[in-house]
Amino acid sequence: MRKIMIAGNWKMYKNVSEAVALVEGLKERVGDTGAVEVVVAPPFTAMTAVHHALKGSGIRLSAQNLYHETEGAYTGEVSPEMVRDTGCRYVILGHSERRRIFGESNETVNRKVRSALDVGLSPILCVGESLSEREEGKTMDVVGDQLRKGLAGVADQEMARIVIAYEPIWAIGTGKTATPEQANEVHSHIRNLLSEIYDTEVAARTRILYGGSVKPANARELMGCSDIDGALVGGASLTAESFAEIVLAGTPS
Ligand code: PEP
Repeated sequence: MRKIMIAGNWKMYKNVSEAVALVEGLKERVGDTGAVEVVVAPPFTAMTAVHHALKGSGIRLSAQNLYHETEGAYTGEVSPEMVRDTGCRYVILGHSERRRIFGESNETVNRKVRSALDVGLSPILCVGESLSEREEGKTMDVVGDQLRKGLAGVADQEMARIVIAYEPIWAIGTGKTATPEQANEVHSHIRNLLSEIYDTEVAARTRILYGGSVKPANARELMGCSDIDGALVGGASLTAESFAEIVLAGTPS
Protein backbone atom coordinates (compact mmCIF):
# COMPACT_ATOMS: atom_id res chain seq x y z
CA MET A 1 0.00 0.00 0.00
CA ARG A 2 1.52 3.31 -1.08
CA LYS A 3 1.01 6.21 1.31
CA ILE A 4 -0.14 9.38 -0.43
CA MET A 5 2.44 12.17 -0.29
CA ILE A 6 1.65 15.85 -0.75
CA ALA A 7 4.81 17.92 -1.10
CA GLY A 8 4.97 21.70 -1.36
CA ASN A 9 7.82 23.20 -3.38
CA TRP A 10 8.09 26.80 -2.20
CA LYS A 11 10.76 27.62 -4.83
CA MET A 12 12.36 31.06 -4.26
CA TYR A 13 9.46 32.39 -2.16
CA LYS A 14 9.09 33.16 1.56
CA ASN A 15 11.55 34.90 3.84
CA VAL A 16 12.08 33.46 7.32
CA SER A 17 9.09 35.07 9.03
CA GLU A 18 6.75 34.29 6.12
CA ALA A 19 7.96 30.69 6.07
CA VAL A 20 7.33 30.24 9.80
CA ALA A 21 3.87 31.81 9.49
CA LEU A 22 3.04 29.41 6.64
CA VAL A 23 4.16 26.42 8.70
CA GLU A 24 2.10 27.57 11.69
CA GLY A 25 -0.95 27.73 9.41
CA LEU A 26 -0.22 24.26 8.08
CA LYS A 27 0.29 22.77 11.52
CA GLU A 28 -3.13 24.02 12.57
CA ARG A 29 -4.79 22.52 9.51
CA VAL A 30 -2.85 19.35 8.66
CA GLY A 31 -0.17 19.01 11.34
CA ASP A 32 -1.22 15.57 12.49
CA THR A 33 -2.71 13.94 9.42
CA GLY A 34 -1.32 10.43 9.63
CA ALA A 35 -3.00 9.10 6.51
CA VAL A 36 -1.04 11.41 4.19
CA GLU A 37 2.65 12.26 4.29
CA VAL A 38 2.88 16.05 4.17
CA VAL A 39 6.21 17.56 3.10
CA VAL A 40 7.37 21.17 2.69
CA ALA A 41 10.42 22.33 0.74
CA PRO A 42 11.35 25.88 1.80
CA PRO A 43 14.32 27.82 0.43
CA PHE A 44 17.62 27.07 2.21
CA THR A 45 17.57 30.38 4.08
CA ALA A 46 14.38 29.40 5.94
CA MET A 47 15.26 25.74 6.48
CA THR A 48 16.42 25.90 10.11
CA ALA A 49 13.53 28.09 11.21
CA VAL A 50 11.04 25.81 9.46
CA HIS A 51 12.68 22.74 10.99
CA HIS A 52 12.15 24.20 14.47
CA ALA A 53 8.61 25.32 13.68
CA LEU A 54 7.71 21.81 12.45
CA LYS A 55 8.76 20.11 15.69
CA GLY A 56 5.93 18.11 17.24
CA SER A 57 4.02 17.94 13.97
CA GLY A 58 3.97 15.12 11.40
CA ILE A 59 5.00 17.47 8.56
CA ARG A 60 8.37 16.61 7.02
CA LEU A 61 11.09 18.77 5.58
CA SER A 62 12.61 18.66 2.10
CA ALA A 63 15.31 20.64 0.33
CA GLN A 64 14.85 21.83 -3.25
CA ASN A 65 18.36 20.99 -4.41
CA LEU A 66 21.88 20.05 -3.33
CA TYR A 67 25.37 19.76 -4.83
CA HIS A 68 26.79 16.27 -5.08
CA GLU A 69 30.27 16.91 -3.62
CA THR A 70 30.90 16.26 0.08
CA GLU A 71 32.72 19.55 0.72
CA GLY A 72 35.17 21.90 -0.94
CA ALA A 73 35.62 25.09 -2.90
CA TYR A 74 32.15 25.21 -4.50
CA THR A 75 31.04 28.75 -3.84
CA GLY A 76 27.33 29.06 -3.30
CA GLU A 77 26.61 25.34 -3.16
CA VAL A 78 25.20 23.16 -0.36
CA SER A 79 26.40 19.58 0.19
CA PRO A 80 24.24 16.50 0.84
CA GLU A 81 25.53 16.33 4.44
CA MET A 82 24.66 19.99 5.01
CA VAL A 83 21.16 19.35 3.71
CA ARG A 84 20.73 16.38 6.02
CA ASP A 85 22.10 18.45 8.90
CA THR A 86 19.22 20.93 8.53
CA GLY A 87 16.77 18.17 9.47
CA CYS A 88 15.66 17.29 5.93
CA ARG A 89 14.44 13.83 5.08
CA TYR A 90 13.76 14.58 1.40
CA VAL A 91 15.42 16.50 -1.42
CA ILE A 92 13.78 17.46 -4.72
CA LEU A 93 16.17 16.63 -7.58
CA GLY A 94 15.93 17.15 -11.33
CA HIS A 95 13.15 19.74 -11.16
CA SER A 96 12.55 21.11 -14.66
CA GLU A 97 13.56 24.59 -13.50
CA ARG A 98 16.96 23.19 -12.43
CA ARG A 99 17.28 21.36 -15.74
CA ARG A 100 16.18 24.31 -17.92
CA ILE A 101 17.57 27.38 -16.12
CA PHE A 102 20.66 25.85 -14.52
CA GLY A 103 21.54 23.37 -17.25
CA GLU A 104 21.30 20.19 -15.19
CA SER A 105 21.63 17.10 -17.37
CA ASN A 106 20.39 13.61 -16.57
CA GLU A 107 23.98 12.80 -15.53
CA THR A 108 24.13 15.76 -13.14
CA VAL A 109 20.80 14.74 -11.67
CA ASN A 110 22.03 11.15 -11.25
CA ARG A 111 25.15 12.31 -9.36
CA LYS A 112 22.87 14.26 -7.04
CA VAL A 113 20.54 11.29 -6.55
CA ARG A 114 23.51 9.03 -5.68
CA SER A 115 25.04 11.53 -3.28
CA ALA A 116 21.69 12.13 -1.55
CA LEU A 117 21.18 8.38 -1.04
CA ASP A 118 24.72 8.04 0.29
CA VAL A 119 23.99 10.38 3.21
CA GLY A 120 20.57 8.88 3.96
CA LEU A 121 18.36 11.45 2.22
CA SER A 122 15.34 10.43 0.15
CA PRO A 123 15.35 11.95 -3.34
CA ILE A 124 12.14 13.12 -5.01
CA LEU A 125 13.25 12.64 -8.61
CA CYS A 126 11.39 14.86 -11.10
CA VAL A 127 10.85 13.87 -14.71
CA GLY A 128 8.67 15.39 -17.42
CA GLU A 129 8.44 16.41 -21.04
CA SER A 130 8.18 19.83 -22.69
CA LEU A 131 5.18 20.86 -24.78
CA SER A 132 7.04 20.33 -28.07
CA GLU A 133 8.20 16.88 -26.94
CA ARG A 134 4.59 15.98 -26.13
CA GLU A 135 3.36 17.31 -29.46
CA GLU A 136 6.03 15.30 -31.29
CA GLY A 137 4.89 12.12 -29.50
CA LYS A 138 8.13 11.82 -27.52
CA THR A 139 6.70 11.94 -23.99
CA MET A 140 7.30 8.29 -23.07
CA ASP A 141 10.85 8.28 -24.50
CA VAL A 142 11.87 11.50 -22.77
CA VAL A 143 10.44 10.44 -19.43
CA GLY A 144 11.91 6.95 -19.80
CA ASP A 145 15.36 8.37 -20.53
CA GLN A 146 15.20 10.73 -17.54
CA LEU A 147 14.08 7.88 -15.31
CA ARG A 148 16.71 5.34 -16.43
CA LYS A 149 19.57 7.85 -16.34
CA GLY A 150 18.42 9.48 -13.12
CA LEU A 151 18.28 6.11 -11.37
CA ALA A 152 21.55 4.71 -12.77
CA GLY A 153 23.42 2.89 -10.02
CA VAL A 154 20.48 2.96 -7.62
CA ALA A 155 20.07 -0.51 -6.08
CA ASP A 156 16.76 -2.32 -5.53
CA GLN A 157 16.82 -1.81 -1.78
CA GLU A 158 17.57 1.92 -2.19
CA MET A 159 14.40 2.32 -4.24
CA ALA A 160 12.44 2.22 -0.97
CA ARG A 161 13.76 5.76 -0.40
CA ILE A 162 13.05 7.12 -3.89
CA VAL A 163 9.92 9.06 -4.82
CA ILE A 164 9.27 9.90 -8.49
CA ALA A 165 7.45 13.07 -9.51
CA TYR A 166 6.01 13.28 -13.00
CA GLU A 167 5.84 16.97 -13.89
CA PRO A 168 5.00 17.83 -17.50
CA ILE A 169 6.89 21.09 -18.07
CA TRP A 170 3.96 22.62 -19.96
CA ALA A 171 1.80 22.24 -16.86
CA ILE A 172 4.18 23.83 -14.33
CA GLY A 173 3.08 27.27 -13.22
CA THR A 174 0.94 27.68 -16.33
CA GLY A 175 -2.48 26.85 -14.94
CA LYS A 176 -2.70 24.03 -17.54
CA THR A 177 -3.03 20.68 -15.81
CA ALA A 178 -2.61 17.35 -17.51
CA THR A 179 -5.97 15.61 -17.56
CA PRO A 180 -6.17 12.74 -15.08
CA GLU A 181 -6.06 10.35 -18.08
CA GLN A 182 -2.95 12.02 -19.57
CA ALA A 183 -1.20 11.98 -16.20
CA ASN A 184 -2.17 8.43 -15.29
CA GLU A 185 -1.00 7.15 -18.68
CA VAL A 186 2.52 8.46 -18.01
CA HIS A 187 2.42 7.28 -14.39
CA SER A 188 1.61 3.73 -15.43
CA HIS A 189 4.36 3.90 -18.08
CA ILE A 190 6.80 4.92 -15.32
CA ARG A 191 5.59 2.05 -13.15
CA ASN A 192 6.09 -0.40 -16.04
CA LEU A 193 9.60 0.92 -16.56
CA LEU A 194 10.32 0.44 -12.86
CA SER A 195 9.33 -3.19 -13.15
CA GLU A 196 11.64 -3.55 -16.16
CA ILE A 197 14.58 -1.82 -14.45
CA TYR A 198 13.92 -3.44 -11.05
CA ASP A 199 11.00 -5.79 -10.48
CA THR A 200 7.24 -5.70 -9.96
CA GLU A 201 7.61 -5.38 -6.20
CA VAL A 202 9.74 -2.23 -6.49
CA ALA A 203 7.35 -0.87 -9.11
CA ALA A 204 4.32 -1.56 -6.92
CA ARG A 205 5.72 0.15 -3.85
CA THR A 206 7.36 3.25 -5.44
CA ARG A 207 5.33 6.41 -5.06
CA ILE A 208 4.81 8.46 -8.20
CA LEU A 209 3.57 12.00 -7.57
CA TYR A 210 1.98 14.27 -10.15
CA GLY A 211 3.04 17.91 -10.40
CA GLY A 212 1.85 20.73 -12.64
CA SER A 213 -0.75 23.30 -11.60
CA VAL A 214 -2.28 21.08 -8.91
CA LYS A 215 -4.94 23.09 -7.06
CA PRO A 216 -7.72 22.32 -4.60
CA ALA A 217 -10.14 22.17 -7.56
CA ASN A 218 -8.34 19.39 -9.47
CA ALA A 219 -6.44 17.52 -6.73
CA ARG A 220 -9.11 14.99 -5.82
CA GLU A 221 -9.66 13.83 -9.39
CA LEU A 222 -5.93 13.51 -10.10
CA MET A 223 -5.27 11.58 -6.93
CA GLY A 224 -8.22 9.31 -7.62
CA CYS A 225 -6.20 7.78 -10.50
CA SER A 226 -4.79 4.31 -9.89
CA ASP A 227 -1.13 5.20 -10.43
CA ILE A 228 -1.05 8.71 -8.92
CA ASP A 229 0.22 8.57 -5.36
CA GLY A 230 0.17 12.22 -4.43
CA ALA A 231 1.20 15.64 -5.66
CA LEU A 232 4.19 17.93 -5.90
CA VAL A 233 2.67 21.38 -5.60
CA GLY A 234 4.26 24.73 -6.47
CA GLY A 235 2.04 27.81 -6.52
CA ALA A 236 -0.80 26.36 -4.47
CA SER A 237 1.61 25.37 -1.66
CA LEU A 238 2.31 29.00 -0.85
CA THR A 239 -0.78 29.55 1.27
CA ALA A 240 -1.80 27.31 4.15
CA GLU A 241 -5.44 27.33 3.02
CA SER A 242 -4.89 25.99 -0.49
CA PHE A 243 -2.13 23.54 0.45
CA ALA A 244 -4.24 22.14 3.30
CA GLU A 245 -7.18 21.71 0.93
CA ILE A 246 -4.98 19.67 -1.39
CA VAL A 247 -3.80 17.55 1.55
CA LEU A 248 -7.42 16.94 2.52
CA ALA A 249 -8.26 16.05 -1.09
CA GLY A 250 -5.54 13.40 -0.94
CA THR A 251 -6.65 11.98 2.40
CA PRO A 252 -8.25 8.56 1.96
CA SER A 253 -11.87 8.61 3.17
C1 PEP B 1 6.45 22.65 -9.34
O1 PEP B 1 7.17 23.62 -9.38
O2 PEP B 1 6.94 21.56 -9.00
C2 PEP B 1 5.05 22.80 -9.70
C3 PEP B 1 4.37 21.72 -9.95
O3 PEP B 1 4.55 24.08 -9.78
P1 PEP B 1 2.99 24.52 -9.96
O4 PEP B 1 2.19 23.68 -9.00
O5 PEP B 1 2.97 25.95 -9.63
O6 PEP B 1 2.65 24.22 -11.38
